[in-house]
Amino acid sequence: MSITIKNSSEIENMRIAGDIVGRAHELVAKEIKAGVTTKHLDKIVEDYIRSRGAIPSFLGYGGYPATINASINEEVVHGIPGSRKLKDGDIIGIDIGACYNGYHGDAARTHAVGNISDENKKLIEVTKQSFFEGIKYAKSGNHLHQISEAIQNYVESNGFSIVRDYVGHGIGKELHESPQVPNYKMPSRGIRLQAGMAIAVEPMVNIGTYKVTVLDDDWTVVTIDGKNSAHYENTILITDGEPEILTI
Ligand code: MG
Repeated sequence: MSITIKNSSEIENMRIAGDIVGRAHELVAKEIKAGVTTKHLDKIVEDYIRSRGAIPSFLGYGGYPATINASINEEVVHGIPGSRKLKDGDIIGIDIGACYNGYHGDAARTHAVGNISDENKKLIEVTKQSFFEGIKYAKSGNHLHQISEAIQNYVESNGFSIVRDYVGHGIGKELHESPQVPNYKMPSRGIRLQAGMAIAVEPMVNIGTYKVTVLDDDWTVVTIDGKNSAHYENTILITDGEPEILTI
């Protein structure tokens, strides 16, 4: 599929979808504490998305059974909400997508549950900051893989590794559109960015090896060494100046 350039009415729908996703994150963040199940978090987000007249983007996508991804500790992405209770010292990545009037927004945050180790605090901070390091290059006229390289450089200079098997993506009428947005250096410069492109930039950062595998549920991605992983993502709009972050 070719890369879509959004017109002003499409952008307006994406701003609303992004606002719904951003506010759903603020809402769910307040609920994260020891003893809470990931199913509870899922319900809060689903109810909020529907209250805004939107649809959860992930529910039913490729058969996915829930509204959010809830990925705890060594789970990288795509953890399925259920009866598991959060424990003090856990970290949890929450990924949320919402579709408003046919347009998607997609964003992820990683949170501490109670008191976490200094290493986990650093992991969460570096993962978030790597997104902002990457999007310094997200403007019209630059090349896509400048974003990718900046993310990898920042993550590795902080002693962590960046996941290769899962990447960011174009977004709009489809949750996943062209182009793919890798978080690591590529042999090519990648496409030239143009105003009106929308992409989801989503570094997944591991404490140990970057290698991951998928559990028997066919969804949950985990690190192969069992060390923790964090995820941070926003949907952004390319402009002639600074990118517009749609999901904050
Ligand atoms: Mg995404």
